[in-house]
Amino acid sequence: MIKARFMQLDQDIIRKIKEAGRIGKNALELAKTLVAPGESLFNVAEKTEKYIVESGLKPSFPLNLSINNEAAHYTPSYGDQKVFRTGDVVKIDIGASLDGYCSDNACTLEVGEAGKHSDLIDATSEALKAALKVVRPNVTISKIGEKIEEVILSFGFRPVKNLGGHGIGRYDLHSSIFIPNYDDGNMDTVRPNSLIAIEPFASTGIGMIRNGQPGNIFMLDGPRIDREGIIYREFNTLPFASRWLNGKVNNPDRFLREALGRKEIVSFPVLKEHSGVFISQAEHTILVLSDDVVVTTL
Ligand code: MN
Ligand code: MN
Repeated sequence: MIKARFMQLDQDIIRKIKEAGRIGKNALELAKTLVAPGESLFNVAEKTEKYIVESGLKPSFPLNLSINNEAAHYTPSYGDQKVFRTGDVVKIDIGASLDGYCSDNACTLEVGEAGKHSDLIDATSEALKAALKVVRPNVTISKIGEKIEEVILSFGFRPVKNLGGHGIGRYDLHSSIFIPNYDDGNMDTVRPNSLIAIEPFASTGIGMIRNGQPGNIFMLDGPRIDREGIIYREFNTLPFASRWLNGKVNNPDRFLREALGRKEIVSFPVLKEHSGVFISQAEHTILVLSDDVVVTTL
């Protein structure tokens, strides 16, 4: 893994972190209005990411649109024909990056508002609210996990144990700490002046996610980063979608296959439980200062 780049916060960096939060939140709001029965995942992803770029920022990762038993990491391929169907439980996950300072936020909705999964959706939005209430400088990781687990269990679902929140560094979406969705006994603390994401996942199944089919999300990750290469110049060390290479390289599929072969990039498989299971997610980015807690995506 690439080492986390420690963030020295100053007023200008805090401003960038907040702006990344604001645009990331707006992008999530936009995506929510675009998801509809019969609409293609490709259109929703392209329009949402276009909004971020037209705002002068970059997506901090491709729009994730993970459906039903998929928990995360589905983004459409170029020209993807997949469409939303009434009753689909869709996790929408997006963020924005300003100069490498990132936001990351997510919500879940049921396509066509059939209302069959309202409890599952509420379980994670309420768990997130409860977690935000306990976040302060030097709170233990286990305290946050305990709150999330308590709320999700009270709704009659299982927290997903092998997915969770994380620290966010500059150009580094998953840095340092891992914040689980249950009390894992971790007495490490959230340090003042850190940026974190909290993301409860609730499942109607066992609450353990496995790697599914290869996805369309990739990231530079290797011992030698080619700083002259197109990937670093376009996306730095943040995750990117294969469709983002369209028009930038001649044959994106071959380009990615060769970079994987040279171990310059990694690919993210779709994360899922067994078919028939439904999963919900909610997520915010939080700037924990020594004297203040700012939810940047609220
Ligand atoms: Mn996310
Ligand atoms: Mn996240």
